[in-house]
Amino acid sequence: METGPRIIPRPEHNVSRAHISNNALKVMYRLRDAGYQAFLVGGGVRDLLLGREPKDFDIATDAHPEEVRQLFRNCRLIGRRFRLAHVFFGRDIVEVATFRAAGDEVGADDEESLLLLDDDGRILRDNRYGGIGDDVWRRDFTANALYYNIADFSIWDYAGGVEDIRAGVLRLIGEPEGRYREDPVRLLRAVRFAAKLGFRIEPATEAPLRPLAPTLESVPPARLFDEVLKLFLGGHAVASYELLRRYGHFAQLFPVVDALLDSEAGEPYRALLLAALRNTDQRVAEDEPVTPVFLFCVLLWGPVRRRAVALEAAGESPLQALLLAADELMDGQQRQVAVPRRITTPVKEMMALQVRLQRTRGRRVLGMLGHPRFRAAYDFLCLRAAAGDADPGLAQFWTELQALDEAGQKAAVETGGRRAQPAAAGEGEAGQEDGGAKPARARRRRRPRRRKPGGASG
Ligand code: ATP
Ligand code: MG
Repeated sequence: METGPRIIPRPEHNVSRAHISNNALKVMYRLRDAGYQAFLVGGGVRDLLLGREPKDFDIATDAHPEEVRQLFRNCRLIGRRFRLAHVFFGRDIVEVATFRAAGDEVGADDEESLLLLDDDGRILRDNRYGGIGDDVWRRDFTANALYYNIADFSIWDYAGGVEDIRAGVLRLIGEPEGRYREDPVRLLRAVRFAAKLGFRIEPATEAPLRPLAPTLESVPPARLFDEVLKLFLGGHAVASYELLRRYGHFAQLFPVVDALLDSEAGEPYRALLLAALRNTDQRVAEDEPVTPVFLFCVLLWGPVRRRAVALEAAGESPLQALLLAADELMDGQQRQVAVPRRITTPVKEMMALQVRLQRTRGRRVLGMLGHPRFRAAYDFLCLRAAAGDADPGLAQFWTELQALDEAGQKAAVETGGRRAQPAAAGEGEAGQEDGGAKPARARRRRRPRRRKPGGASG
């Protein structure tokens, strides 16, 4: 809008085409050859400047979505809030966004091009197109507002992003409070980028984070679900979690969990959650798969467990109590974060397995080893045991059982294994189903290979 960009020529920066995906390059070249501007923008430029591997490559252009579609056979227009073009290359998608204006003086002629705000000033729809000099001001952070020009491989910097990246500073573009109110998800994005990049949040950008936490209430729960996945499965879950707690965002996302973590009874669940998140980060670092099922199981476990204990005291069977509690908690949670059924169903299963794994005697016990969610449930049990939320002897029983040969396993479940110690009083844990522990030292054939409890596996 006001000033032109600082243009950093190719020799003065380290963003190389060698590190940009072929598909993103193809899209940019085709736009360029058709006479349009084409820039790599957002996390792609930011991460390459930092010498990191970008998660995805977003393209910005002056071509309108319809024009983009005409250039690519494998292209679909999506989005109502923002109209975007998705160019498909097999399973890879390159997102192409048309430059949009922040000022209302620019507008196209159809209804789609209108800016729509709600009473609180939130953006409901924004399809006013503009030039790159307009587009930059509606991006969130300076570090996310750099444009790599495919025409000459230079970087265009309007907002001082290059300097902020060099200094490790996360700075919102424009007046922070207004920018957060426009789109409260930016609060979570601030946390996510600070955690992921290890950046310091610039004071004016940080100041509203806590006071504006309640504005997250107005964000659709489905969008918060997407953000939660990015926060917790992106490889920086521990750092994100700590910031979310610090700024009161976690309380907005998971109010019941947050209250328990803050209470005296929260101790094992704080430890459990931290251990699980650490584990998830480690798995991401090692390129092992992570899934939302494990994540939500761990996140919601504390309140579910507490509620199940209460229901048990009121006369429900352990399994029934747990299932009822899980339903209750997960239903309530949907008001903040819409977790889809394809995730809540297996989460419930994994929780129920925590009860079923308490049985260590009888033929049916061996059947558990073949259960599709056994691995995840076992990993979770190990984490719980380490955090003081389950009987370590029980976790050990399952560890050892897996290491035995068939005959050994049969023998083991005849006696029900050995239990190191009963669970904490009042938790109704050990021996609930099988009538208690029996010492059985002789059965141990060989040292079981203790597998790493696997973060978000399963
Ligand atoms: P990553 O892909 O690593 O999570 P990113 O910065 O690429 O990070 P995206 O969500 O992919 O983030 O968005 C791409 C770009 O779009 C951002 O860099 C930013 O410029 C802009 N952007 C995305 N979401 C918002 C938002 N809520 N408000 C303002 N700008 C946004
Ligand atoms: Mg991106």
